[in-house]
Amino acid sequence: MNDLDFGTRNKRGDFRPKEAIGLPPFVNSPHTTSTLGWLKGLVWPWNALIIGISVFWWFVVVPDFETMKTFAFGWIAQLFLAKWVALFLWTGVFEWRLFTQRKQSSRFKYNGKFPADQPSDYFWFKSQNLDNFLRSMFVSVPICVAFEVVIFWAFANGHAHWIDAAAHPVYLGAIVVLTAVFHEAYFFFAHRAMHWKPWYDWCHKIHHNSVNVSPWTAMSNHPLESALQFAPAFLYLLIPAAPFLAMHHLNFVAFSALVGHIGFDKIELGELGEHAAVDSACYSHYLHHKHFEVNYCDNGSLPWDHWFGSFHDGTAEGDRLMAERYQQKLAKLNGATGATGDGNHKD
Ligand SMILES: [Zn+2]
Ligand SMILES: [Zn+2]
Repeated sequence: MNDLDFGTRNKRGDFRPKEAIGLPPFVNSPHTTSTLGWLKGLVWPWNALIIGISVFWWFVVVPDFETMKTFAFGWIAQLFLAKWVALFLWTGVFEWRLFTQRKQSSRFKYNGKFPADQPSDYFWFKSQNLDNFLRSMFVSVPICVAFEVVIFWAFANGHAHWIDAAAHPVYLGAIVVLTAVFHEAYFFFAHRAMHWKPWYDWCHKIHHNSVNVSPWTAMSNHPLESALQFAPAFLYLLIPAAPFLAMHHLNFVAFSALVGHIGFDKIELGELGEHAAVDSACYSHYLHHKHFEVNYCDNGSLPWDHWFGSFHDGTAEGDRLMAERYQQKLAKLNGATGATGDGNHKD
């Protein structure tokens, strides 16, 4: 498959898609998606896949609530092992195919280089892959499971307002489908706050050490950042809800983190035919890792970045607008301090 039919490559070998990142149809922009396309994007494929995972979880993995009334090693270990193995496979399949086997070389790869070829002191053992893997699987996953354990225990012991799914199917069903939208709103503001310099240096910087992202980057965070990402699941203890909602929220955050960190615009499926490929929908978050101060959103279900002036649509025009914003910010800072600067933005 020739990726240059779909985009361009610069002298460093970085791929840029031709198509601008689309915005929802109700936004005034030259690059809006159709209403049908936007609605489809809300559900398919990632949201539907993760809802499927949660249904499987509920019926196969979750122990009965009588057992979960008391903390015990057996059921906690079961939840941990299941989440660990599932996330290892979910992330590992993409990492193995695209970054270890390099099945499609650097075709459609946003950053022309591979992290494994660039050892760096920023990472544990000088290896981005190992650092990201260890932080994801031995820091973030245990935090996610610890929250899940406490929430299930609270529901089992009547410390929540557990409503019957059969009596409230629309209310509960709507929350499941809209989890992506709730997460997006929370993620945008929490993420924006994490770019406040003192907090960034202390916490969020660890995630941003990986400029050239790979799937293991998805949950490679400071423990506090992971805890903040999973924390909204506790809200289901405060409103009329069901444990499925909290469990799905945790699953959504854990499994959807991969999406922004695939690093390739299309995933080729050579086994199904020469032109078979799926769109990854991950350019927006890649641009966040590259430029830091754009695209704070996660899944793009609502255009928070557009509303707050931090959107980059991936085009040369997006670069120009970003540079313009940077100049304005610099001028404002210089005005406030009376300082002067050359105003050159390194990007
Ligand atoms: Zn990221
Ligand atoms: Zn960030």
